[in-house]
Amino acid sequence: MKNNIDNNNFSKKIVICGAGGFIGGALIAELRCRGYNNIRAVDRKPMTRWYQKFEDVDNLVLDLQYRDNCYKALQGAHDCYNLAADMGGMGFIELNKALCMLSVLINTHLLEGCRDLGVSRFFYASSACVYAGYKQLETDNPGLKEEDAYPADPEDGYGWEKLFSERMCRHFREDFGIRTRVARFHNVYGPNGTFDGGREKAPAAICRKAIAAKQAGTRDIEIWGDGMQTRSFMYIDDCIKGILDIMDSEIEEPINLGSDEMVSINQLVDIVESIAEIKLERAYKLDAPKGVRGRSSDNTKIQQELGWAPNIRLKDGMRKTYEWILDQMSSGHSKDAIVNFEESDASRVLAH
Ligand code: NAD
Repeated sequence: MKNNIDNNNFSKKIVICGAGGFIGGALIAELRCRGYNNIRAVDRKPMTRWYQKFEDVDNLVLDLQYRDNCYKALQGAHDCYNLAADMGGMGFIELNKALCMLSVLINTHLLEGCRDLGVSRFFYASSACVYAGYKQLETDNPGLKEEDAYPADPEDGYGWEKLFSERMCRHFREDFGIRTRVARFHNVYGPNGTFDGGREKAPAAICRKAIAAKQAGTRDIEIWGDGMQTRSFMYIDDCIKGILDIMDSEIEEPINLGSDEMVSINQLVDIVESIAEIKLERAYKLDAPKGVRGRSSDNTKIQQELGWAPNIRLKDGMRKTYEWILDQMSSGHSKDAIVNFEESDASRVLAH
């Protein structure tokens, strides 16, 4: 068994997969702040499109769906965090099920690499999309408990891949002794994430639409669905603390990492209106992808086991997110047009 937790060794190699993305970039920022000095960052996107990139980190462009690239990424690693996935908001995952399921290659090849190269600890980013659809039919959701993932009826495509990969982690732990940890994220939001291009999620999309309306001098906003569907949203800083706490914990089974502050999409728009100081005309697009009717996180387990609870209220986190998106839009920045195949083909080889 290679299960030693070696947290005082600040020079152990930590590999972050999906490092050019929203959560991966924020995780590296925090690890650096904590003093870790041997970090490898891996993503398939060209580095110009990484949300955060640090010069003192070993940055690699690799497509981790390929086994050889996973082995290159994991050379010398002690810990691996797998945050790489082809994903986005409802608009992306409902219309790209095959692409979402292909992320299974990333997690599978990374786990094989961990086994063969002796990597001690592995973190997998799962999702609330593993939860059974029949538990999410009402807007008034009491909060999903970990056991609500079974009998299985996850989100088609994306959710099935997450559920399968969770189980791969379990079996690699049981059969090969890799210390795997799995968190089920519920909607993460904050600065340095996707806000346009088709992969963005509701908090960023609503901020962008409100800013665009304000800049154009109009008052219109399109809302997907009837706006009564409910969700909870976790600010990025809370998410990062939770990831690191879970990685260091003895919690072997998948655990919720999310907020239990449930709001409707209409209430989320109310929050953005008050931040933007604008009153919008809402047009409801009822045939748009909208996902389950009601979803929130039951945090009983993570509170009991780790004392973790979200620190940042939705209205405070949304203000920071709004300001960052406003800044990006005002300066004409956008990193997240949907990746096309030519681009991902080009990044299959190692290219600094
Ligand atoms: P993101 O899209 O910002 O980051 C994912 C990164 O993975 C991207 O930079 C992408 O280029 C990279 N990637 C995709 N395929 C790759 C491949 N084959 N090889 C190498 N890199 C690849 O997404 P995020 O919000 O940072 O999400 C991180 C993880 O958390 C994902 O597994 C996601 O499914 C999970 N998750 C996120 C949320 C959320 O609300 N953001 C909710 C639930 C689960």
